[in-house]
Amino acid sequence: RNSMFNLTYAFAEGNKDLRDILGGKGANLSEMTNLGLPVPQGFVVSTVACRAYLKAHELTDDLVTEIRSRVSDLETVTGKTFGHGADPLLVSVRSGAKFSMPGMMDTILNLGLNDVTVQRVAQRTENLAFAYGSYRRLIQMFGNVVFEIDIKDFNEASHKVENVRGYGSANFTRQDWLLVIEQYKQVFQAQAGQEFPQDVYDQLFIAVEAVFKSWDNDRAKVYRQLHNIPDDLGTAVNIQQMVFGNYSKDSGTGVMFTRNPATGAPGLFGEYLSQAQGEDIVSGARTPDPIANLEASKPQVYQQLKTIAEKLEKHYQDMQDVEFTVEDNHLYMLQTRNGKRTPNAAVNIAYDLYEEKLISAQEMISRIEPGMIEQLLHPSFLASDLAKHDSIASGLPASPGAATGEVIFTAQGAKVAAEKGHHVVLLRNETSPEDIVGMTVSEAVVTSRGGMTSHAAVVARGMGTCCVVGCQDLQVDEAGAVAHYAGGVLKEGDIISVDGTNGKIYLGTIKTTAGSVSDKLNKILAVCDKYARLQVFGNGETVKDIREAIVKGARGIGLARTEHMFFQPDRLKAMRQLILAENDADITSTLAYIKGEQKGDFVAMFETLLDKPCTIRLLDPPLHEFLPTKEADLQQLAQSIHKDYNWVAAKAAALREVNPMLGLRGVRLAVTLPQIYQMQVEAIIEAAILVSEAHQVNIIPEIMIPLIGVTPELEMAKKLCVDAAEGIFEKTGKRLDYKVGTMIEMPRACLIADELAQDADFFSFGTNDLTQLTFGYSRDDAHKFLPTYLEDHLLPNDPFQVLDTKGVGALMNMAATKGKAANPKLKVGVCGEVGGNAESIEFINTLPVDYVSCSPFRVPQARLICAQTQL
Ligand code: ADP
Ligand code: MG
Ligand code: MG
Repeated sequence: RNSMFNLTYAFAEGNKDLRDILGGKGANLSEMTNLGLPVPQGFVVSTVACRAYLKAHELTDDLVTEIRSRVSDLETVTGKTFGHGADPLLVSVRSGAKFSMPGMMDTILNLGLNDVTVQRVAQRTENLAFAYGSYRRLIQMFGNVVFEIDIKDFNEASHKVENVRGYGSANFTRQDWLLVIEQYKQVFQAQAGQEFPQDVYDQLFIAVEAVFKSWDNDRAKVYRQLHNIPDDLGTAVNIQQMVFGNYSKDSGTGVMFTRNPATGAPGLFGEYLSQAQGEDIVSGARTPDPIANLEASKPQVYQQLKTIAEKLEKHYQDMQDVEFTVEDNHLYMLQTRNGKRTPNAAVNIAYDLYEEKLISAQEMISRIEPGMIEQLLHPSFLASDLAKHDSIASGLPASPGAATGEVIFTAQGAKVAAEKGHHVVLLRNETSPEDIVGMTVSEAVVTSRGGMTSHAAVVARGMGTCCVVGCQDLQVDEAGAVAHYAGGVLKEGDIISVDGTNGKIYLGTIKTTAGSVSDKLNKILAVCDKYARLQVFGNGETVKDIREAIVKGARGIGLARTEHMFFQPDRLKAMRQLILAENDADITSTLAYIKGEQKGDFVAMFETLLDKPCTIRLLDPPLHEFLPTKEADLQQLAQSIHKDYNWVAAKAAALREVNPMLGLRGVRLAVTLPQIYQMQVEAIIEAAILVSEAHQVNIIPEIMIPLIGVTPELEMAKKLCVDAAEGIFEKTGKRLDYKVGTMIEMPRACLIADELAQDADFFSFGTNDLTQLTFGYSRDDAHKFLPTYLEDHLLPNDPFQVLDTKGVGALMNMAATKGKAANPKLKVGVCGEVGGNAESIEFINTLPVDYVSCSPFRVPQARLICAQTQL
C-alpha cells in the first residue's frame, strides 16, 4: 500500500474487513479485485477523509493531492487519460457507507466528459449516440444528484428537440446532439446557478464534496435514526473507471442474487437489461429480462456469472446480491454484498449453506434470528383466496400476520365486542397507552397515522398482533365511527382483512393458512437441540395444544394448568356445588363426578404424550373465581342447585376477596379443602395406570403444587399426594413411579428453597407470580402505570415480558442454587411467558436451571434461542 497516502485506497490495497474506512461498497470492490474478478479499477476516498471534511467544510490540500495522484495512477492502469487525449478516462463517483444507506447521495456516471472529451469518445467509438447520450446523462445526473434538479426538466429538453426534428434520439445527427447538450446545459445553469463544469477535476471534486455532504442530509439522518446507525461514521466515496452497458447491442447491465431472495432456492436470480446503463434497470422505463434468458442469448457471460456467483458465495459464505455490467460481451463486476432476504429464504439458505459445507452448524444457528421464526409461524392469507380481493388501502407493514375482523373505532368498543366473541380489527388514527386493552383483544390493529416506531407498531409487534400503521388511504373519524377511503366508507362492524406483512387492507373475509415449521427449519432446530443446554418444554393442557407443542419440538409439557378444565358448564356447576356443599354426602358425590371428568382429561393428555414427561399443576385459582357475581346469575345458580338465593348470595359474598391474587388460592385450597387435591391426584394416577397399560409405555406423572410459601405447606401437600397415590395402588394392585414437585413463585419460597428441595422432586419457577410478588405489581392492574414507567425509563422493560434479571433473576438464582445443593436430583425449570423470550432465556441459561417451558407457539423460537445462547 502506498504509505504516502492515508486518505485514499486503490481497490488493490483494500479488503472486505476494512468496511469502517472503505465503506461496504469499497471494501467489497477491493475484495473482488483481490479475488481476481473482473472489476473496473479505481480507488476509495475513505471515511476518514469524510469525517475531516465534515469538520473543516472543505477538501483539505492533502486530500486534493491524493485524489489527483490516484487519478494519475488510474490513468496508468487503464491506459486512458482524464480530461484530455484520444482515449479519455471516464469514471463513476459512488457513495458507500459502512452500512448500506438509502437516502444518501446517488451515483454519478460518466464523469470526465466535457465538450472536448465527448468528441474524442465519439471519434474513437464511431458512435455518436453513445458518446453524446453518455454526456447527456452526466449533465443530468450531476445536476440531479449534486444540485437536486428535477430529471423531468432535463427530459423535457430532449423531447423538445425530438419534437422539433420529428425523429427520436436514435437518429440524431451531430447537430441535434449538440443542440440537446446545449439545452441540458441551460437547464443546469438556470437551476444550479453555475455553469456545468468543463474542468473534469472540478467535476470530480464537486462530486466528492457532494457525497460527503449528503451524509448529513435530512433523509440520511432519519434513516440512521431509524436503524440505529451512529451519526459520526461518515461515508466513503468510490471513484471507478466506467464500463459501458450502453455501448452496443452486446452490452447491458444487470442485478442478480446468487440464490432466490424470496424462497432461498439455489440458482441465479435477477434481471438483465441490454443496452442500458446503471440505474436504468431500476427506473422501470424498460422492462428487463430474467437473468435466465442470458443462458441462451449470452452463454459465455452466463457461465461466467455462474462461476463468479459460486466463487463469491464460497468466499463470503453467504448469498450475494451483485451488480454487473456487460460491455461488448465482456463481463464486469460492480458490486457485491450479502443479499437481503425473506425469513423463509434466510432459513432455507442457512440450511443449504450448511449442507453444502460452506458454513458450520454454529454459524447456521447464529444466522437465524428469533424474529424470523416468529414471522414464519404467523398466519398468512391463502394466495388463491387473496387473488379474489382488491386492496382498498395500504400502509406500513408494522407487525406481520394476517387477520380478519369487524372494524371497531375505540379500544373500549373492541373490548366489548371481543367479550361477545367477535373478531375485532381496531381502526384508529393512532393509539396511545389507554388503547392497550383494546389492542390485546383485537385480531389486528390499523392506524391512519404514525410510522414503524409509533405506539401502535411497537405495542402490536410486542404482542405479536398483526398491525398496519400510517395507512393514509383511510380518513378515520373516530368520533363518528366511520372511515373513508377512495372507493367507499367503512362503518363500525364492517368486515375487513389486514395483511401485516405487506401493509394492505382488504374488504371482507379472506381465508388464512396457519404458519408452519418448514422442513428445513425443523432440521435446523434439530441441530439446535444438540447445542442447547436448556431443554424446551411447552405449556398446555388441551390435546390440541399438547399436539402443537410436540409438533413444534417440545420435549414434553412443562405446565398443564388443571383449572382450565373446570370452566366448562357442567363442571363449573359441579365445582359450585362443591364450594357450596353443606354436608359430606354432597361433597363426595360432586367430587366423584368431577374426578371422572378429570380422569378423562388426563387420559387424553397421557395418550397424546405417551412417554414424554408431563407436569400437571393442581388447582391454583382463587375459589371465588368459580362463583358468579351478578344477581341474576346468582339467582339462577341458587335455582339450579335447589338452594335459597339469599344463602347462596351470602356464601358468595363471604368468599369474595379484596385481593384474590393474594387470597385463597394455590396450596391454600388444599389446606382448607384437601378433598380437591386428593381427587385430582387420584385422577392423575388412575389415568396414568390406564394409559401405561393400554399403550405399554412407562408414564411417570409429575404432580406440581402451586404457591408454596412455607415448608409445612409442602410437607402437608406432599403427604396428601402420596396418600392419595398409595390409596390407588392399594385399590388397583398396580403401581407406577410419580414425582411431586413445587412451583417456586413466592419470594419466600426462594429464600427457603433448600428446605423445600428436601420434599420436592422438582422446582418450576412461575415467573408471572414471582414477578408480581417481588415487585408488588398486580398483574391485573400494572398496565395502568407500567407504560409510564417505561416511558420515563424507570424500568428498562415490562418485567412480565422480559425477566427482571437483577431482582427476580437473583431470587431464581438463589433458589435454584440452594435447591440443587440440598437435593442433587432436583430438576429445575422455568414456566411462564418469559420462557420464550430471548433476553430472558439468555439469562436463565446462566442459572442452574434444566429447562424452560413456554406456549407451544413459541417453542421453536425458544429452541433456537437456547442453542444461540450456548454458542
Ligand atoms: P447504489 O448504491 O444506488 O446501488 P451504485 O454506486 O452501486 O449505487 O451505482 C448504481 C449503478 O451504477 C451500478 O449498479 C452500475 O450499474 C452503475 N455503475 C456504477 N459505477 C459504474 C462504473 N464504473 N461503470 C459502469 N456502471 C457503473
Ligand atoms: Mg441507487
Ligand atoms: Mg449498487
